[in-house]
Amino acid sequence: MKVHEYQARQLLASGGIPVPPGQVIESFDKAAQAYREVTSQAGTDLAVIKAQVHAGGRGKAGFVKLVRSADDAAEAAKFMLTNKMVSVQTGPDGLDVRKILIAAGVDIEKEYYLAVTTDRASRTDVLIASAEGGVEIETVAKNNPDAIIKERLHPLEGLRPFQARRVAFQLGFTGKQVGQAVKVMLNLAKLYRSTDASIAEINPLIITPASDAHPDGQVLAIDAKFNFDDNALFRQKAIAEMFDPMEENPAEIRAKKFDLSYIALDGNIGCLVNGAGLAMSTMDIIKLHGGEPANFLDVGGSADEEAVTEAFRIILSDSRVQGVLVNIFGGIMRCDVIAKAIANAAKEVGFAVPLVVRLEGTNVDAARDILESARADIPTLQTATDLTDAAIKVTAAVKAA
Ligand code: GDP
Ligand code: MN
Repeated sequence: MKVHEYQARQLLASGGIPVPPGQVIESFDKAAQAYREVTSQAGTDLAVIKAQVHAGGRGKAGFVKLVRSADDAAEAAKFMLTNKMVSVQTGPDGLDVRKILIAAGVDIEKEYYLAVTTDRASRTDVLIASAEGGVEIETVAKNNPDAIIKERLHPLEGLRPFQARRVAFQLGFTGKQVGQAVKVMLNLAKLYRSTDASIAEINPLIITPASDAHPDGQVLAIDAKFNFDDNALFRQKAIAEMFDPMEENPAEIRAKKFDLSYIALDGNIGCLVNGAGLAMSTMDIIKLHGGEPANFLDVGGSADEEAVTEAFRIILSDSRVQGVLVNIFGGIMRCDVIAKAIANAAKEVGFAVPLVVRLEGTNVDAARDILESARADIPTLQTATDLTDAAIKVTAAVKAA
């Protein structure tokens, strides 16, 4: 599960990591007031206006803007709320922005990268740090891998103070900066564990220029990203409540309600399968025969007739779907359940697009009978004998349509 930056900042603040004050607004007429409040709280005229979407690369996309007046704050907020954000992480269609964070701006002496995540290769959690912050860490990893520092977390003790100090020195912190940076690292590692996060990232962590109040500068988090392990949400009520359904694909949310796993893709052939392995091979074989899958919908083994019918409703409500391939290898999932769901969906929604069905396994004969009786409702139905036959039939039917 993903959360917004403003929620990640709340988590950081609650975990003892210093973050400039901010407010979230959903309409631009609130921007001027928010600007005045956060800037007076921080004693500056600089504020940063930031689109709150579940994607990064906002700075380069023009959706992180520095302003020094209430009017400019309102204008930037209006721009972000009325234009789609297209960044390297959103795809060409871009994303609608519904929430804006208005935060006190800070002067930056230097930007750093800091994150805790799981390293599968070493089977431990790991702290990742770099003095080349602000830019995407993937770019640093590619162009300058030596600039990335890693410290493994102890399975019981987590990140230990000597490790955090070592990293702080490697990053080049000096004087009072070291203690501040160490505290941020230790607190980030604790938050990562206590919230069941899969990544806790601060990019950039910054140091402010020296001032009278802070002769060595201040270490602050000014952007944050947290993702959480879905399987742990049952014991993370406060985190689960941060879920923002508006940021998710509506079809994926519908599917989740019925315990179906649905992933939207870019093509035009809707796929309904049982089991992730079968889903992968179905997608591969569609591609092999020149088609493009529109989705990955896995009904699993335990879905009942109603859930499978919902699966067809979801696929058929996607306007990009120009053909449907059903590929079921009945085991725990029975073929007759699938056939009944097809008949239900045909009555209820209708298959305006070609439908190719390949069923094998438990109760397949009963399933074939059900499909034969439903044929009048499904003029586009074709049956297939094996996976190759099914893929050839559905790609041909979509091309002909
Ligand atoms: P992202 O592009 O989505 O990762 O958004 P960030 O919040 O990381 O902002 C991108 C960049 O904008 C940062 O790396 C900074 O260089 C700059 N930026 C963000 N907030 C501030 C701020 O308060 N003051 C200054 N001077 N620059 C900022
Ligand atoms: Mn960032």
